Amino acid sequence: MGRGGRRPFPVRPREVAAAPSADNHGVALRPDEYHAVPGVGDGRPAIADIHGSCDALLASGWRRDEIASQVTETGESLPIPAYLNSTSVDRVLIGGIHGREPAGAIALARYAGRLAELGRGEGILLLPLLNPWGYSRHLRYGPSGQSVSDSDHLLGRAEAPACSEAAAITSFVLDAVRVNPGAAVLDLHEDPVYEDPSYHLEGHGSYLYVSGDGALDHPVAQRVYRCLEASSFPLIKQGVTRFGERLVEGVIVDTEDGSIDELLARKRACCPVITTEIALQGEATPPLAERVATYLGVLDAFFGP
Ligand SMILES: [Zn+2]
Repeated sequence: MGRGGRRPFPVRPREVAAAPSADNHGVALRPDEYHAVPGVGDGRPAIADIHGSCDALLASGWRRDEIASQVTETGESLPIPAYLNSTSVDRVLIGGIHGREPAGAIALARYAGRLAELGRGEGILLLPLLNPWGYSRHLRYGPSGQSVSDSDHLLGRAEAPACSEAAAITSFVLDAVRVNPGAAVLDLHEDPVYEDPSYHLEGHGSYLYVSGDGALDHPVAQRVYRCLEASSFPLIKQGVTRFGERLVEGVIVDTEDGSIDELLARKRACCPVITTEIALQGEATPPLAERVATYLGVLDAFFGP
């Protein structure tokens, strides 16, 4: 699954998950990592292509801010940009926190043209690819072995940020931008269940985390729910995630996982905060193109008619 660490485990979930994530399934690294197509073979484009599509927003008056960067062994710096059309936003879009979950970042990049139109009517913050280092290497976490957007240090559960990216990304969303109360958040993940051979999730499809006061009944959450329900990846109604969370009608409500989503729900009163998951049985199972197409539909549902 999902996000940074997962509660309600007595053991820190991210420590449990760190071991399998160190194996990137033999994905070869390329020189000029920024412009190279990652060697995963699932059809994901170069980091530069993701950013290039988003850069088209600049012609519509959007701003690009560099939140942080991740440095490779060869000294190459991989930027982590944010795109925004206002310093006061009512929508937040997040992708690419976990490197084995590329569909969200790709869908967000492909949605940039539509965002240029939607941005005429409301303030939008786009964080398309928060972990480019993990994306190009097919690794869940960043170079430090920690979730790049872990927010526990701001939720009273850790003394210090988990890593430099977590410090920069959380500071950016809380301090550099005004995310308004009631802002709707969509964080596009996938659940590479194949990371844990001992785990079995009953059924194939998707599930959701929804947070915020009354968030499940919010029209935005309802639209996303119905969109996934009607998609190629219908909601898995019952089961338990790898992180011990029980699905109720395909949803986990108000989880405490130390993610940036929990941070935005608690510290900025965002509502609904929606985290989507598509269960993956392998790197290219189901095919990436189908997952991206589904997430493009989810983006339409998130913004509504
Ligand atoms: Zn994830």
